[in-house]
Amino acid sequence: MNITLFREEPLLAISLWNADPSLWLLIPLFLFAGWSFLRSEPFSRGSDLEVHKDEEGDRTADRSHVHHQANELLLCSLDALMSEFPVPIWIAEWPSGRLRSMNRASQELLGRKLEPRSTLFNCTDLYGFYHPDLGTYPPEWFPALRAVKSGASVIVEDLRALTPEGERRLLVGWAMPLRGYAGEIIGVVTAFFDRTDTLHKERAYEAHIQELTREVEKLKGQLTAMERKVALAHQLSNIGQMTAILAHEIRNPLGAIANAAELLLQLLPNADENERELLRLISSEARRLSDFTRQVLTYARMPDPEPVLTHIHEVIEQALDLLQKDPHFDSRICIRKEFSPVVTLCSVDPDLIKEVLWNLLLNAVQAMPEAGELVVATDLGEIPDRPSQRCVRITIRDSGVGIAPGDMEKLFDPFFTTKPFGTGLGLAAARRIIEAHNGEITVQSSPGKGTTVTIFLPL
Ligand code: ADP
Ligand code: MG
Repeated sequence: MNITLFREEPLLAISLWNADPSLWLLIPLFLFAGWSFLRSEPFSRGSDLEVHKDEEGDRTADRSHVHHQANELLLCSLDALMSEFPVPIWIAEWPSGRLRSMNRASQELLGRKLEPRSTLFNCTDLYGFYHPDLGTYPPEWFPALRAVKSGASVIVEDLRALTPEGERRLLVGWAMPLRGYAGEIIGVVTAFFDRTDTLHKERAYEAHIQELTREVEKLKGQLTAMERKVALAHQLSNIGQMTAILAHEIRNPLGAIANAAELLLQLLPNADENERELLRLISSEARRLSDFTRQVLTYARMPDPEPVLTHIHEVIEQALDLLQKDPHFDSRICIRKEFSPVVTLCSVDPDLIKEVLWNLLLNAVQAMPEAGELVVATDLGEIPDRPSQRCVRITIRDSGVGIAPGDMEKLFDPFFTTKPFGTGLGLAAARRIIEAHNGEITVQSSPGKGTTVTIFLPL
């Protein structure tokens, strides 16, 4: 069986059925022509009979014999005409129901040849016709039987057939009764149209629709989750604003308290050592709290950089200067600068970048309690994952304790700290500021060997 041919033919059949009904007119035309031709024969032969036979009874018997032959001739002609017709067609006799011919297209469609003993009454079983709910297709529903019973053409939409190879076909069956010389039904023509491909396409389309529906549902879920996140972010931003106001309000009085304690220390030279110690404690704790509120402020207020063309090396020098003047700075730490001469001006907010550098330098120094080397390098390069984006690269490298692998992903979380008096806001604020400049910040570390933090600022 030639499957390719088989698959193409139903398309042709459907196109004949849909697009060119005039071809179908050939069948009744042919039937009418054959019938007219045969009908004329009894008259010519009838005149001969009149010459040779006198008995009316003999004439009747002869005529019926001729009618029978004429009908048989009609059916034979139809069998011959349909044998190579590109639409699967069956021709059955009536009233015996004997299936007399099955053209090549039907054999290919059903994957079976004409069974000699087949009739319209047992054909559904013999040729694998079935009903999706009832199993074998009830013969009385078969289009051919319905056509002979009603005397008119019948279309059955959901006929199914199972080929011996196990392929399932969805068919449309069309049957038309054939009338003989005397107008009686002498047979029935059944044509089949294969809708299997259409069904497959419909199923694929339905599956696609279902998949799209699932996708839409998933997206809806994601959208709801995002809406919730946005609502939370909005809430957090309100909290952030309140925190910023609070921190701002606390910071000024804290400064005043620290100043007052230091002034008292000078104004009361006769204070005993306990009193002096208390004043020093008030001053240092007030300064620590003030520092903390400054960091909270930097983090809570969404940074809004005011970029100006800035000499990056000058900003770095200022940050290093601050660091070295800090009373806690360990002078045993060796600072090395590796500034590239190609790095000159960059459009940044110098105060915010100084804030970032201060946080990173402080972290580097705090990571080297036993002293070590601090390298600050600059260069031109490209932002990671944005290969065409040129940038200034600032690298701060220390030979300190390094970072435990488990801590790496928490580094930028606000309030993540491994230090007894740490705030956990330095890196979080640094990232906010760098991202507000449309840049990036990365951290690489080897525990026990040191850490490298790199800032990428777009040019
Ligand atoms: P804090 O310094 O107040 O702890 P940060 O946000 O600046 O907060 O840093 C968070 C944590 O990241 C630090 O507690 C420390 O564990 C780790 N860290 C940051 N920089 C370094 C560094 N250069 N070397 C080792 N650890 C670091
Ligand atoms: Mg820090």
